[in-house]
Amino acid sequence: MSAKPPALADFRRIVVKVGSSLLVDSGAGRLKDAWLASLVADIAELHRDKRDIIVVSSGAIALGRAVLKLPKGVLKLEDSQAAAAVGQIALARTWAEALGQHGITAGQVLVTLTDTEERRRYLNARSTIGKLLEWRSVPVINENDTVATNEIRYGDNDRLAARVATMASADLLVLLSDIDGLYDAPPARNASANHIPLVPRITAEVEAMAGVSGSELSRGGMVTKIEAGKIATAAGTHMVIASGHVDHPLAAIGAGARCTWFLTPANPVTSRKKWIAGSLEPKGTLTIDAGAAAALRRGSSLLPAGVIRVDGVFGRGDAVVIRGPDGAEIARGLVAYDAEDAAKIVRKSSNEIVLILGIEGRSEMVHRDDLVMAGA
Ligand code: GLU
Repeated sequence: MSAKPPALADFRRIVVKVGSSLLVDSGAGRLKDAWLASLVADIAELHRDKRDIIVVSSGAIALGRAVLKLPKGVLKLEDSQAAAAVGQIALARTWAEALGQHGITAGQVLVTLTDTEERRRYLNARSTIGKLLEWRSVPVINENDTVATNEIRYGDNDRLAARVATMASADLLVLLSDIDGLYDAPPARNASANHIPLVPRITAEVEAMAGVSGSELSRGGMVTKIEAGKIATAAGTHMVIASGHVDHPLAAIGAGARCTWFLTPANPVTSRKKWIAGSLEPKGTLTIDAGAAAALRRGSSLLPAGVIRVDGVFGRGDAVVIRGPDGAEIARGLVAYDAEDAAKIVRKSSNEIVLILGIEGRSEMVHRDDLVMAGA
């Protein structure tokens, strides 16, 4: 288990699953608004950075039972269905308002097991989610608990989120949980339990570590999280389990907080580069000189000094085509400057950037990590 964990910025489409106990303060019988606001701020930042975000939010039953003041303990199916009917309204409104604070539109999608397991319904749900993302909305998904019966229900949102992630071809699933990852023994009962930062493959040994825990509010213990990991990684989606008991939990993962990564055999750099190469509409063109073209072929970044012309209207982070002096496409990449600034720094050395633009920008016009050679 020695491979280096990926970073959130490596991913293009991210599903964030939020557990009930993170969202609902069962003692006070209400949502944890301040924490949610910090999570939504992280989501908004990724969204601004052109990532597609899908939220799978639990909490309908927990919130409904708090509002209805139902007694503690396991609920009968019809009670949890009715509790979900009350809780889901409040949950959806909360997400819509929290995302709305950042100018992001939320779209509620309630799914049942049959919606993901029956091909026709699956394709239908997939295209709805695809359309919402195309509109730059954030789908907020939960199981349709009010109609799910015992025989046909997920019951836990870990596996549901994994299915949604694979359905939406997400490249990362983040499970925000009340635990910061997988341990080789249940940490609550065993003080010497070791945290596992990286699981390259879910083996029988990994499954055995999961045990059978779970809090009162959420049905998903580590077992359903490992099941989710199997669904996700088999379909090319990486998964990370991280603690939601901190403010800004997504930023915390980026800053190196303790968590467990489950890797899919496809390497994230490759999938990011696949995204750059294939699924973006290039917004502009950078024409470069022969020296820069040779440097790119050797694996270097593109520096402003090697750029001779800038065409198109693009913003920082947009995809551009990079052409050689003869006009042939050499590469595609994500540009570090908007078109106006890029035009001002063509043929300039990297240390002149600050004098020209008045800001300490990146020294590369397109960083090598954001660059894919044509035909690569
Ligand atoms: N769908 C359930 C709810 O919203 C949550 C299931 C789970 O806790 O994973 O209450």
